[in-house]
Amino acid sequence: QPVITVIGAGLAGSEAAWQIAKEGIQVHLYEMRPVKQTPAHHTDKFAELVCSNSLRGNSLTNAVGVLKEEMRRLDSVIIASADGAAVPAGGALAVDRHDFADAVTQKVRNHPNITVFNEEIDSIPDGPTIIATGPLTSEGLSNSLRELTGEESLYFYDAAAPIIDAETIDRDKVYLKSRYDKGEAAYLNCPMNEEEFNRFYEALISAETVPLKEFEKEIFFEGCMPIEVMAARGPKTMLFGPMKPVGLEDPKTGKRPYAVVQLRQDNSSGTLFNMVGFQTHLKWGPQKEVFRLIPGLEQADFVRYGVMHRNTFLNSPKLLNRTYQFKAREDLFFAGQITGVEGYVESAAAGMIAGINAARLVKGQELLVFPEETILGAMAEYITTEAKKNFQPINANFGLLKPLEERIKSKKERYEQLAERALGTIQNFMKEM
Ligand code: FAD
Repeated sequence: QPVITVIGAGLAGSEAAWQIAKEGIQVHLYEMRPVKQTPAHHTDKFAELVCSNSLRGNSLTNAVGVLKEEMRRLDSVIIASADGAAVPAGGALAVDRHDFADAVTQKVRNHPNITVFNEEIDSIPDGPTIIATGPLTSEGLSNSLRELTGEESLYFYDAAAPIIDAETIDRDKVYLKSRYDKGEAAYLNCPMNEEEFNRFYEALISAETVPLKEFEKEIFFEGCMPIEVMAARGPKTMLFGPMKPVGLEDPKTGKRPYAVVQLRQDNSSGTLFNMVGFQTHLKWGPQKEVFRLIPGLEQADFVRYGVMHRNTFLNSPKLLNRTYQFKAREDLFFAGQITGVEGYVESAAAGMIAGINAARLVKGQELLVFPEETILGAMAEYITTEAKKNFQPINANFGLLKPLEERIKSKKERYEQLAERALGTIQNFMKEM
């Protein structure tokens, strides 16, 4: 009888094991806790939430809400357990973390097709395997992964700049131009006069940052400096650094602004833009407040805030297929945060697709590529096909979806239609499955 090995019983590994077991296939699930803990986990439970107890928005006008609904329809053990452990949290799905992890642990452990081993795995096993060891993958396995993928394709820190929904950028204030008009005009430029710069600068240097965890202290030595740390060296560091205006004269006036923030297209359909050089460690609330002071970004929606934290993840655009399968070895899959998705629900979603596909591979069935109109499919597409110089993990967001045929100005209506299309598509896709 075929057996699929799943390594890691976190959000992704638990979901993957569940999806495989449901198909009548045996799973050997390896989890190193409690024999060995990560620097962020405290219990021996599966799917332990290492920080917040919220699985974020639950409504269908929210991309992570739509993702949860797609997963509910596909019988997700993570979402069912979260629904069962929900605590009052307004529009969000927050859980009692102990009840939630207990529920996942019991369902997964008690499944007759799943055998659990509390062992650390440090080399990549032969045979059908899913690696779901998370952002804090143990050192031994990280070394094996580095050998498998090459030095350049496994990252240990995530130092990301915010990403913005393109629809929410004020096009009357920003202009399209590349520095010195070199090549195609590729950047959206947010110009500032001296007064605007000073106001922004003061807000930036006094905004609150996230305290670094003990195991993350080495992070700044890796050559990735947060924008607020650079700013603290003085306004000139900014004006001669990431905000330098030379070669970026405003085409409307021909004048050079005092400072410029550049936005770079982040996906091929142009629905997302990132802030160039703005990797940051500010808290999310202050990020929104401070970055909305930038002309053109007053109403910006940040689909992903800047972060700086320890995070083991692959260069998925180079290494993975949209099925979460490793390109160079057909029976090896990856799932969870290690693939470059970001967040509890997103990690479980990757586990769901990897699990479904590993089971199909073992059964000799064709693997499934989830449609781009669904959040499940759009996330897989984003992490695996974007040709990026600097690949950074991503949260679920509506900007990932193929735009609607018709342009809808009202954000609420646009999101409602995208959600309706996603759920209709997943329903049809399930019938085909
Ligand atoms: P995990 O849930 O970490 O699961 C991986 C599992 O693999 C663990 O149980 C680990 O013990 C096991 N493992 C590791 N190496 C081995 C090995 N060699 N052999 C056997 N087992 C192994 N996301 C949010 O949405 N909200 C948050 O508030 C949030 N806070 C975070 C805080 C921190 C400090 C970190 C690091 C991440 C946070 N994330 C958060 C991001 C992410 O959503 C979580 O890390 C999530 O748990 C990732 O799911 P996963 O299944 O990929 O990994």
